[in-house]
Amino acid sequence: LLAPIGMGGGFLLAWLLWRVAATQMSLPAAIRSGLRRREFFPLFQPIVRLADQRVVGAEALIRWRRSDGQLVAPDRFIGAAEGAGLIGLVTAEMFRMVEKTLAVLARHQDTPYLSLNLSPGDFHSDDTEQRLHTLLARSGASASQVVLEITERGFADIGHARVVVNRLRGQGFRVSIDDFGTGYSSLSDLVRLDVDTIKIDKAFVDSIDAVAATNHIAAHIVEMAHGMSLGMVAEGIERGSQVQVLRSWGVEYGQGYFFAQPMSGDDFLALVHAQTPRAAACERAPSVLG
Ligand code: C2E
Ligand code: MG
Ligand code: MG
Ligand code: MG
Repeated sequence: LLAPIGMGGGFLLAWLLWRVAATQMSLPAAIRSGLRRREFFPLFQPIVRLADQRVVGAEALIRWRRSDGQLVAPDRFIGAAEGAGLIGLVTAEMFRMVEKTLAVLARHQDTPYLSLNLSPGDFHSDDTEQRLHTLLARSGASASQVVLEITERGFADIGHARVVVNRLRGQGFRVSIDDFGTGYSSLSDLVRLDVDTIKIDKAFVDSIDAVAATNHIAAHIVEMAHGMSLGMVAEGIERGSQVQVLRSWGVEYGQGYFFAQPMSGDDFLALVHAQTPRAAACERAPSVLG
């Protein structure tokens, strides 16, 4: 009597095990099929000038909506993509997906920039340069409108990193050290890199107005960056009080939920468009009438 139920339960169990295996066993295989099915998309988080909260650019952040509807954060698949040698494909897909938004930004009078994250593998791959130039060709943007964010992990071989940074900067791209202060590179090594900007990691921004001692570390990073004439973007700003302290230290730019969450390309373009000053149009109006 119980046999059919037992059998049904067995099938259910087998099916559940198969599902678990399908979702857990091979993340790289899932990434591959996700790329084929175009399951990835970019969000854009505004970067603002702290003095007046004017949007100067955005960081493009990748997202993955799997076929079952589950949204996967990059922290959960970028590492796997790197490990499986798939990061180049993910990066190429990301570049393709930001083309349209960058094309509109390129024609905008403020020419806001787009900040793109590169993995260490991208940073050292010859394909990246070609992909970047394809992005420029398809969007009509100039290299100066593209900032490349690289974490300190990408600088493991500082001598080679220096060659790559100089090459990219020589072509007009801007280079930024992401999550600055969280890696193990010595400051004297980073100084030799000659990048444009650093992004002060959220961990340091979090500590502002909490613990005086850690505050001091953040202030020290800022002071050092000033000494090297580096631009600075503070990431993960969540409170107005942090903006005040960062401004008092001379940090010019920031990014975080306090200003805006990551948003769709259309929403970001609407934001940029809304802040365009009408002044230029007003000045022109009388001459047109006259
Ligand atoms: P990241 O480059 O340091 O990006 C900043 C992260 O902080 C983003 O997380 C962003 O959503 C989050 N964030 C921004 N403001 C706030 C805030 O005020 N509060 C809090 N709690 N979080 C904030 P996300 O989008 O999950 O990205 C995580 C990391 O994944 C990124 O860190 C970046 O290293 C990597 N990543 C994202 N997109 C790409 C990509 O296209 N390529 C590569 N290679 N890595 C990517
Ligand atoms: Mg970043
Ligand atoms: Mg960052
Ligand atoms: Mg970070």
